[in-house]
Amino acid sequence: MYDDLSLEHFMSGLKKRTPGEKEFHQAVYEVAESVIPFILEHTRYRQAGIIQRMTEPDRTIIFRVNWEDDEGHIRVNRGYRVQFNNSIGPYKGGIRFHPSVNLSILKFLGFEQTFKNSLTTLPMGAGKGGSDFNPKGKSDREVMRFCQAFMTELFHHIGPNTDVPAGDIGVGAREISYMFGQYKRLRHEFTGVLTGKAIEFGGSLIRTEATGYGNAYFMENMLNHHNDSIKGKTCVVSGSGNVATYCTEKINHLGGKVVTLSDSSGFIYDKDGIDAEKLAWVINLKTVKRGRISEYAKHFGAEYHKGKRPWGVPCDLAFPCATQNELGEDDAKTLVANGCKAVSEGANMPTTVEAIHVLLENKLLYGPGKAANAGGVAVSGLEMTQNSIRMAWTSEELEQKLKDIMQNIHNNCAKWGKEGDFTNYVKGANIAGFIKVADAMLAYGVA
Ligand code: NDP
Repeated sequence: MYDDLSLEHFMSGLKKRTPGEKEFHQAVYEVAESVIPFILEHTRYRQAGIIQRMTEPDRTIIFRVNWEDDEGHIRVNRGYRVQFNNSIGPYKGGIRFHPSVNLSILKFLGFEQTFKNSLTTLPMGAGKGGSDFNPKGKSDREVMRFCQAFMTELFHHIGPNTDVPAGDIGVGAREISYMFGQYKRLRHEFTGVLTGKAIEFGGSLIRTEATGYGNAYFMENMLNHHNDSIKGKTCVVSGSGNVATYCTEKINHLGGKVVTLSDSSGFIYDKDGIDAEKLAWVINLKTVKRGRISEYAKHFGAEYHKGKRPWGVPCDLAFPCATQNELGEDDAKTLVANGCKAVSEGANMPTTVEAIHVLLENKLLYGPGKAANAGGVAVSGLEMTQNSIRMAWTSEELEQKLKDIMQNIHNNCAKWGKEGDFTNYVKGANIAGFIKVADAMLAYGVA
């Protein structure tokens, strides 16, 4: 069965088994490109069919979610939880509420999570879930009713030692609180079953900031490793949600200048830089007023580019922090032509396979999301530990742990991705993430 383990043969088998799941195919291809040559050199992984097993989720749960809107109409959405791999710990990964959510997107995210969680060195397996529910434009009460209905099914499948979900696009502190409240009500118990909780009921300090901070640290680590740093660099950031805003905050702390932010309607360009005061305004706009980034341009007199992405703005460093496939081949060529030196992904799979090839061929430092945005799930892992030992660490302690984890992830990727003077962080992240999970699977036998 495993005689021909060429990339083409493997991918054509996967596509036959999972027709139409294009984001999932893309995520697997990106990993298989670097992991298959490694497997061919290590026959124990090949004989045990590890890559074939790793690309099939342990199980997928799909369910109907009924809820009532403010006008009394009954609405129906679809809920999912993809429990991908629990070889090194309970399933762990976010919940996404966005109209684009489908099985392919959640499988790509769950698959990526396997490698990301492994890279953190914490004992966390991988999962991902969500719904095609769109929280935008809904009242607080509607969001609450939806979250409660969603958890009424999901609670059967999760638990502190089974599966511990967190937030993602469209799921922030408000949604996690509604879901945690419902879980507690249904189970009659208070346990650390979700991460990203508020501080008052078991949340961890700096969890909100962790993904964005971690991404800026990963960029700093890549640059330091090549005798450079963020200080004085012009940075282009996409998105204006959780990851984008806290990535901007840490870039500012490290002495860089962020000149763009975006949302799904367009981007703003502020040549003077988005300082702490302007950033606080954006965070309030996005988390309290739930407004559009175009309002920034009006408020601060910056440029607004409707329907466009920010990659044409000349920069030294780029940080895609919005969503999947937001940076294509032409964008990558533009970044290269404008002299960009490095790209670090806050979002999951924001760069297409073709664009990754352009970046690597031109020897840019490129930090893939599974390594560069692992700070969020790492602090989620620390939240689980704090819940288990019933203690809370301080912000300073947690930020030091986050910094150390990001440095370790970087060093591990650099070790496996060394190609002469160049560091191929894609190869490094894929192989380093693969080994730990693969070895655990080998140890269990055919299980
Ligand atoms: P948020 O919901 O807080 O923000 C998402 C941002 O991306 C918003 O600015 C949103 O704009 C924009 N966006 C969403 N969809 C699109 C689209 N189709 N086209 C253009 N822009 C879009 O999410 P997060 O910041 O939490 O997540 C951002 C990315 O980071 C995702 O890829 C997520 O998987 C990843 N990630 C998040 C982690 C976390 O801890 N939160 C952890 C690791 C990865 P708009 O408001 O117009 O929709």
